[in-house]
Amino acid sequence: MHDPAIARLRDQDPAVADLVEAEARRQYEKVRLIASENYVSPAVLEATGSVLTNKYSEGYTGRRYYEGQQYIDPIELLAVERAKRVFGVEHANVQPYSGSPANLAVYMAFLEPGDTVMGMSLPMGGHLTHGWSVSATGKWFRPVRYGVRADTGRIDLDEVRDLARRERPKLIWCGGTAIPRTIDFAAFAEIAREVGAVLAADIAHIAGLIAGGAHPSPVGHADVISTTTHKTLRGPRGAMIMTTEEHAKAVDKAVFPGLQGGPHNHTTAAIAVALEEAARPDFADYAHQVVANARALAAALAERGFDLVSGGTDNHLILIDLTGRGVPGKPAAQALDRAGIELNYNTVPFDPRKPFDPSGLRLGTAAITTRGLTEGEMPRIAAWIDEVVQAAAKQDDTALDRVAGEVRELMAAYPMPGWAPAP
Ligand SMILES: *Cc1c(COP(=O)(O)O)cnc(C)c1O
Repeated sequence: MHDPAIARLRDQDPAVADLVEAEARRQYEKVRLIASENYVSPAVLEATGSVLTNKYSEGYTGRRYYEGQQYIDPIELLAVERAKRVFGVEHANVQPYSGSPANLAVYMAFLEPGDTVMGMSLPMGGHLTHGWSVSATGKWFRPVRYGVRADTGRIDLDEVRDLARRERPKLIWCGGTAIPRTIDFAAFAEIAREVGAVLAADIAHIAGLIAGGAHPSPVGHADVISTTTHKTLRGPRGAMIMTTEEHAKAVDKAVFPGLQGGPHNHTTAAIAVALEEAARPDFADYAHQVVANARALAAALAERGFDLVSGGTDNHLILIDLTGRGVPGKPAAQALDRAGIELNYNTVPFDPRKPFDPSGLRLGTAAITTRGLTEGEMPRIAAWIDEVVQAAAKQDDTALDRVAGEVRELMAAYPMPGWAPAP
């Protein structure tokens, strides 16, 4: 049963309702290890499903282009004030539709087309929007890219500094999608200052850890901070840009009217709800448990002979290099999905294979921690992953279905926010 209920949807449109129910059951039964995913609270779901979606409100609180903003204005103000309090920033814009548009707004605020931007290379762990070639950000700007050291799997700050001195980027990105280690915001800030670049910290993956005090904050180091709201922060699909008073106007103008029209007010309300949740003491416990679980899972995987990029993790994310395990990332991820363990295939640094069939697997503990799993369950999950990867190498499907049953049994003991099986 979906919670909040979807009874009207069921009556009116059973085709859609059946698929929503089926997806909810899938989320309930699986060990969800996709590093960018989570389970939001029923309160966040209710805000997302509210009549606020009916309202247009181009502009900002107190300066709108449409009438009837008596209740939208205080909602957006709540979201902004909570973002400022949770992250300790001077200014927050909560209107970007998602992480990629938020990052485009950062370019719009600080750069002209053709300017040089420096970001982490996508196959090394960066994001498309940090200047990768197929992205608008790599086509409309001049990208230069840093990576990790081959021997440590960690960001090579000497390379970052040398590249920045040589290429003189106007904007430097730190943060990414597959970085299992703490980001040294102070070191990036020093490099940016030396070359006169704007430093943008993209904390999409780690925002919840920062909010909960389980990862250092970029505040005071980065000129501008972008984040999604739906990953470790456990809010609706959306994004925010945070900055200082100095850059507030440029950022706001870039989001609207630079790139967007009306903000998604139902999302804004849900962001406000999620930020109130993130300010509670139990969210700090959650954030620390996410990291404790990732550490325990990494240790259990390493014990089983898995090769982890950088040797382990400091945050919610683990990157496995499957080279030498007899099966590449894609078939391994497919076998794991069939066995009830959901993750994604991923490139690893210096991957000799193609991005659509790379050598690695990426895992994260944000979602399973929301379900209530703790360190004690991690060796079991590592054992299943080991068993399934071996079965995939031998193309033994019977093992996969047995593991799926065991996974279902485990997860039935941990309630899911937003859905429960019919009693
Ligand atoms: C997820 C992510 C984004 C993009 O977010 P979308 O909402 O998918 O557009 C941007 N940057 C980083 C580092 C991310 O992890």
